[in-house]
Amino acid sequence: MVDGKVRKLEELVREFLLLIGEDPNREGLKETPARVARMWLGELSAGYREDPTTHLKTFTATNAGLKNGVVVVRDIPVRSICEHHLLPFFGYAHIAYVPDGVILGFSKFARIVDTFAKRLQVQERLTRQVADFLYEGLKPRGLIVLIDAMHTCALVRGVEESMYLTTMEVRGIFKEDESLRREALALLLQSNTMRLKHIQE
Ligand SMILES: [Zn+2]
Repeated sequence: MVDGKVRKLEELVREFLLLIGEDPNREGLKETPARVARMWLGELSAGYREDPTTHLKTFTATNAGLKNGVVVVRDIPVRSICEHHLLPFFGYAHIAYVPDGVILGFSKFARIVDTFAKRLQVQERLTRQVADFLYEGLKPRGLIVLIDAMHTCALVRGVEESMYLTTMEVRGIFKEDESLRREALALLLQSNTMRLKHIQE
């Protein structure tokens, strides 16, 4: 983290606090500009400095005893920042794919989702970027990426419409084969996350 950047952002946060009618010098806010600056230049923008291809460690599917089956990875945490309001949205990603010779290590999905999430995002683009990256990197026969997330920008503003957004990208064989797609979606909806449980009921 470059010190000059931290100081500059710290100054801007102090200015921001003044503009919304706060006193940046009061006890509770004294450390806030520095803390916010470090957070934004650190973990919240980490995705800009990370190359997702470093997480693309694949195995040959035959070694894992998989040939044509659907592989489902559920409940991958999604923590991102909405680029329209600079407020968090969070939820889960669920991925189904039909490998064509290669599979990806289980934990790598979370790292890949996180790399794209730790940038300013809109959920639709995040879903598409993860799908495009996995489709290109794994070259599976089919792929579904589904993200279900809660948007705090809608929550804190008391917006009437839903705070939840579900986005889905479908590639390859899942586009053509409706029964296979339905089968995969049924597996994805077995998620443990509260939100998807509600959809099911
Ligand atoms: Zn927003």
